[in-house]
Amino acid sequence: MSFNEEAADLFAYQHARLEDVGSTNDMEALPALLGYTLVEGRESRLVGREIHVKTKQPLPGRHSDIAHEASHALAQERDDPDALHFEEIIRHRHAHTPNVEAQVEALIKTGQDRIRMPTDVVKAVINICGLKAMAVWVLHQQEKVYLHEALRRIVELDENARMGGFIAWNGTITHAYSYRYHMPCWINDPIPDVDDYENSGLTIFTVPGSPSTVIGLVVIDESGPI
Ligand SMILES: [Zn+2]
Repeated sequence: MSFNEEAADLFAYQHARLEDVGSTNDMEALPALLGYTLVEGRESRLVGREIHVKTKQPLPGRHSDIAHEASHALAQERDDPDALHFEEIIRHRHAHTPNVEAQVEALIKTGQDRIRMPTDVVKAVINICGLKAMAVWVLHQQEKVYLHEALRRIVELDENARMGGFIAWNGTITHAYSYRYHMPCWINDPIPDVDDYENSGLTIFTVPGSPSTVIGLVVIDESGPI
């Protein structure tokens, strides 16, 4: 079984659990809805049925931490007390894969983004803005998430799509994500020229009120030449 199949199982389970409790993007309310207690702590971590969240941090970070620990919590649930939970299944099946822990953590982070920014919310933003760089900024504004989290969520939204994106500051890329696509530019590179991406649908958006911050989104249209 590939990581993709296990990821799909995990996300389907997380989605079903969230739907069951009425699917919310209120991170303060989420732990109780899922049957966990939110506890203020020095570090964000999961302790049994308690989601500890680090105090004294900006709200976007706090809410992403809650979503992250909730993602771990759901990945450690099981119907049958004798069965393995999702994280154990992945570790077990991929025991010989190098960096299995990093792979598990990457799946948990994708789960975190899905909890923090529910699919219907992301799709509503894209319906208004189109699949363009501006959608990243609108999602960030609307859901009070960090810009790079909104970018990551949109780039990974559609498992059948091929996308990439970056955030640049003062002309240099600081964050980059790609999904099923080898993006020619990456972190520390200069902002690419739109003309170099002629058939690859690169859109650029300059963040209002912060002209040195630029978002780029690359959408590969497989129906046309690449
Ligand atoms: Zn983690």
